[in-house]
Amino acid sequence: MRATTLLNRVLKFSGTNITTVEFDGQGPVIATVKLTARKKLSCPHCPFITKAAYDTRWAESTWRHLDLGGTPLVLKMLRRRLRCPEHGVVVQAVPFARPNARFTRDFEDLVAWLVTRADKSSVSAFTRIAWRTVGAICERVVEEQLDDTRFENLVSLGVDEISWKKHHNYLTLISDHETSTILWGAAGKNAATLDKFFTEIGPENTQSIEAVSMDMGAAFIKSVTKNAPDAAICIDPFHCVQLATNALDAVRRAFWQKARELPDQAFAKKYKGNRWALLKNPGKLTDMQDATLKQMEEDGGELWEAYLLKESLREVFAGDLETEDVMGMISQWCDAATASGMAPFMKTGATLRGHMEGIYQAVTRKISNGKHEGLNNKIRTMTRRSYGFHSPEATLALIMLACGPVTTRLPYHK
Ligand SMILES: [Zn+2]
Repeated sequence: MRATTLLNRVLKFSGTNITTVEFDGQGPVIATVKLTARKKLSCPHCPFITKAAYDTRWAESTWRHLDLGGTPLVLKMLRRRLRCPEHGVVVQAVPFARPNARFTRDFEDLVAWLVTRADKSSVSAFTRIAWRTVGAICERVVEEQLDDTRFENLVSLGVDEISWKKHHNYLTLISDHETSTILWGAAGKNAATLDKFFTEIGPENTQSIEAVSMDMGAAFIKSVTKNAPDAAICIDPFHCVQLATNALDAVRRAFWQKARELPDQAFAKKYKGNRWALLKNPGKLTDMQDATLKQMEEDGGELWEAYLLKESLREVFAGDLETEDVMGMISQWCDAATASGMAPFMKTGATLRGHMEGIYQAVTRKISNGKHEGLNNKIRTMTRRSYGFHSPEATLALIMLACGPVTTRLPYHK
């Protein structure tokens, strides 16, 4: 059997014929291909087809395909240009690769499948491509898979910001509370960032939205009030507890700073090491942290009081209580925070008081971003994995691949 016949039968590309195969024993196997419908030139971005080439130029393109027994396989083809009424002058589309890709669709699907399941170095080592290139592949796969039907009949959404690539680089993410998937994201974290979401989904899709949960920052509240005035603004219990946890951490830090100035340094060390014992949920403590906590209880004082305040707020939300009871307890909690005399808690109490309506809306609807723990963990893993990507778009694409309404399939499982 001839090598071209063999490859045509093995690779099974539709609408594409392998005409010659070259291999010098060292580099990649190079297969020259031709499209079977050679006279029809299609736009890579839309269904437009024409027989008229834009000019007489033939440009050579190559695409890396899945390896042949460990040796890279490269497809080579001469392509023409055409003028699409919508997209202008473009290089003709090929059925086996996405627009602007240097890899075949099968190769990219393999990378997309792998990247949500394996760590960064495994993906790079296995596919022998740079991590940056992985980002660009994720973007292309996601762009092809996502369509606007995911914005239809939305009812209850969560909006949150996450940092990516060290500090001060933020992404705003929208999740669907009903499906626990990420629907949309964009770089930035201000009101204008969230405005883009509402512009994209349009007024008709906005109408069905009944509730949007968020933290207490002004930006998202402003955008939802403006763009979806009928939707209830829900202040996420997860973020309320987080405020109290931050207040506790501030008290602990101040305590530690003071202790550091004392001659007995062992005392200071103790308060440096107790950070996690204080901030973690009691159910998740290690034996050591548990012992630290017991010691702190015996010591008593302001730090222990701060700990109890944080824990009591967490428990208010953790229990399956009636809305009225929860709201009454939060109000009492705010009084206790003010009465504590500890500045960080007094501030938290005042902040919560300013958002009672939003907290009520979240509690009565039983909405919390913290409930999607699996989703949040996945997002965290993906953001860590995306370090080294060149753009927020690539990071977002990776998040959408893993947490969005996107199905990744291996090329041989179609
Ligand atoms: Zn077009």
